[in-house]
Amino acid sequence: MLTERMASWAKRRVVLGILVGLFAVSGVAAAGYFHQSYNQTAYHVYINNKEIGIIHNPDTVRQWLANKMDRERKKFPGQSLQLNKKVTFKKADGDRAAYNEEKTLQQLEREISIKSSAARLVVGKKVIVYGKDKQSIEQALKQLKVRHVKETVKVEAAVVSPAAVFPDGQLVNLLRKRVTALAAEEAISVMKGKSSRGDGQFEMPAAGQLSSYFGERWGRLHAGIDIAAAVDTPVYSADNGRVIFAGQKAGYGNCIIVDHGNGYETLYGHLNAFVASNGDIVEKGEEIAKTGNTGRSTGPHLHFEIRKDGEPVNPLSYIH
Ligand SMILES: [Zn+2]
Repeated sequence: MLTERMASWAKRRVVLGILVGLFAVSGVAAAGYFHQSYNQTAYHVYINNKEIGIIHNPDTVRQWLANKMDRERKKFPGQSLQLNKKVTFKKADGDRAAYNEEKTLQQLEREISIKSSAARLVVGKKVIVYGKDKQSIEQALKQLKVRHVKETVKVEAAVVSPAAVFPDGQLVNLLRKRVTALAAEEAISVMKGKSSRGDGQFEMPAAGQLSSYFGERWGRLHAGIDIAAAVDTPVYSADNGRVIFAGQKAGYGNCIIVDHGNGYETLYGHLNAFVASNGDIVEKGEEIAKTGNTGRSTGPHLHFEIRKDGEPVNPLSYIH
């Protein structure tokens, strides 16, 4: 019968279909088994020697770490970045443990972070600021003209989160705020907006009696004025300027020279002690030294000169 023949044909097709299907399933199973047994290597992943997972290919982790580092580098240019922990791999042997990439990466995400090899400014026990390196902080301190830094102030290496590190451009302003606040506690003193340029209006550099004037004396020019004062009387800078010499000079003994940045220099001689150092920016009226009796001197006094373009002038014509 036509219908019977058709049914039997259809039956054969079904049987054939099942056979093909079975072959396909067993083929996939066989291929999978082959792959796992002979091709599929696995690696243990360690963070600081502690195993955190198993992966198929270490490049997955390496790429993940590289991507993380790239993102941070873009966010924090100029910083010296590194991983907080060491990631290592070891090829699995014996019966291959099942790997789990996703879990391993999640564990990495939890444990691995990027750190910055930076530097910090510490005053006493207080961390004032983090900069990208020691040089950045020292440069900012210089720009700020921080002086009288006590030994409790340190610039030291520090490993921190890159987000905690301030870019060079912001360091000076930040330090100005934070260090100035500290200055009140006398840990550090900051010369705020101090100018090294004088206005040409000089002040008397010490309290005392004038004991000698500018001009010819004993057949030679006495190039300044003498102010008699007991040893260790404060000596003040006569105008804003920068100390360009603090040391001994023949005849003058201990001596300071301040360059006022406007063609004028002042000299302070026969000093007993220095308060300011070479290179310091000093303000008009700021104590720079103590009077004394050093060099060619017949008694405690301050010898004070003003030089205009290198030539001594009579200080009394310039002191207001
Ligand atoms: Zn003199």
